Amino acid sequence: MSIAQSNKFGFTINRSRLIDYDSSDRKVREFITLKEPSFRLCFACGGCTATCTAGQHTSFNLRRMNTYIRRGEIEPLREEVKRCMLCGKCLLVCPRGVNTRNVVAAAADAIGKLERNEL
Ligand code: SF4
Ligand code: SF4
Repeated sequence: MSIAQSNKFGFTINRSRLIDYDSSDRKVREFITLKEPSFRLCFACGGCTATCTAGQHTSFNLRRMNTYIRRGEIEPLREEVKRCMLCGKCLLVCPRGVNTRNVVAAAADAIGKLERNEL
């Protein structure tokens, strides 16, 4: 439901939590989930972000990156994905066993494919 549609019922959806499936690009999420199925298990606890090496030196935030993937927000994802150092520390703390390093690598792969019109 879009914001305009929800207004008809006398309420609005908080914009920061809105996922507009009509305008979002799901190709990247589908590509990443196919390459790394454990991505589905992420429940956004933020454990990976708390321990992230890159996050200590930059504004990189893996949980936020996962949200961009789910929402199909490609532009911020493009910037975010460059900051990961692929050190793998986040893998050690994820309570759901998400292969976070593979998720970042798959996201970078997907962005490259998008730029080459291969996705
Ligand atoms: S630690 Fe795992 S479950 Fe938690 S936000 Fe990171 S990837 Fe998702
Ligand atoms: S692999 Fe990337 S996301 Fe994970 S801890 Fe290292 S820098 Fe952070």
